[in-house]
Amino acid sequence: MNNSYDVIIIGAGPAGTLAAAKLIKEGKTVLILEKIQFPRFVIGESLLPQCMNYLDDLDLLPCIEKHNFQIKTGVCFYHEDEVCDFLFEKQYSDGWHYTWQVQRAKFDYALATEVEKRGAVLHYMAEVTDLKTSATQQTVTYSHPELGMQTAICKFVLDASGYGRVLPRMFDLEEPVSTPPRGAIFVHLEDKNRSEKAGENIFVHSFNENTAWIWSIPFSDGTTSVGIVGNSDFIKECESNEGALFHKLIGEFPGLDGRYKNVPRLFEPKVILNYAVAVKQLYGEGYALCGNSTEFLDPIFSSGVTFAVCSGYKSAELVVKQLNGEKVDWEMDYSVPIKKGIDVFRSYVNAWYAGDLATIFFATERKTQFMEQICSVLAGYVWDETNPFVKKHKTLLKTLAKVIRIEESRIV
Ligand code: FAD
Repeated sequence: MNNSYDVIIIGAGPAGTLAAAKLIKEGKTVLILEKIQFPRFVIGESLLPQCMNYLDDLDLLPCIEKHNFQIKTGVCFYHEDEVCDFLFEKQYSDGWHYTWQVQRAKFDYALATEVEKRGAVLHYMAEVTDLKTSATQQTVTYSHPELGMQTAICKFVLDASGYGRVLPRMFDLEEPVSTPPRGAIFVHLEDKNRSEKAGENIFVHSFNENTAWIWSIPFSDGTTSVGIVGNSDFIKECESNEGALFHKLIGEFPGLDGRYKNVPRLFEPKVILNYAVAVKQLYGEGYALCGNSTEFLDPIFSSGVTFAVCSGYKSAELVVKQLNGEKVDWEMDYSVPIKKGIDVFRSYVNAWYAGDLATIFFATERKTQFMEQICSVLAGYVWDETNPFVKKHKTLLKTLAKVIRIEESRIV
């Protein structure tokens, strides 16, 4: 059995498969080692328009379109009776106007099957347990229930293992996060009471003074993903007594009008606690990290899959250069731009939980130009430095919220 490849990728989520598609396109041999048998459940169902750029570039849109996933044209935020609707067609950046809301089991499997068709070797049930790196050759050890312990060699390893965090754990790259411990509890349900008026885009209700929020992500098959995010202690409370508080909240939350009361749940609520993760570095000798194995802040702006797709693509692009004998500056060409994008989202996540975004979203008078610029960030275009809400992300949200508060206190 051939066990030598140009690149070995750990994990067949969107980061891994996008990297594989790019590498195959550039003529490299690829082995993907995936711990679980696909299709498998994973959370992260609302995409951002920016990921369409990468899917399109690699001609991966047709294999997704076949599944008739729910088209997502925007995102709607609610606070009590107030609504703030963003539509991607009304955004500042020159970006895609739509994307999808996807059941990840189907979405990830479609991408994995497609890259296999294009020539990637993909082993399911193959759990990576060790990696020995050097300047020229990497040796990956993995276990398989039928084949036992195996080794494969390659020139470069991409860690796309998501929450598996294979290399961050193995090489002691993990870093503490600065955000308070937050978690999520979620379920898929039969959305029998869905009405046309409610719309089909993702919607988010904030509550408990912006410390918690409910997401609803309708799918095209009439089911919907519903979850609550909040401080980890609150999520544990929601989970106790067989999820009594969770079911009560999503059933009786005033803004949801009983839509999710007494409708069948497709599985028992699942919980993820302390989801935020960070690393000291994104690359080392013979390897790089992409997707969630790098850093994950918060699900509030649905940025996870888009970052996975983008970092999978960009890391593969640099691996190709390196394997072709070109000099690659992993710090300047990879780490810096990836972290820049994450930093923009960090400002928005902080502004969300601090209440600044609520002030801006639900202001009595919203300036169209600002809302369009913010909309582009919500669509994932966080590298468009012509957008002042990207370029000055650290200060602009705070300043705008402050000005709105002063103006509104005058009106009162
Ligand atoms: P994954 O999709 O997790 O794939 C990693 C793969 O690696 C897995 O299949 C795993 O089995 C495999 N693996 C792990 N360990 C090993 C090993 N040792 N050997 C071999 N294979 C291994 N993102 C969005 O874009 N939209 C959302 O609406 C959204 N909602 C979210 C809600 C919550 C509550 C949370 C916590 C996250 C959410 N996310 C969302 C983030 C999203 O889940 C992730 O960012 C995304 O799945 C990352 O993709 P990935 O390819 O990096 O990793």
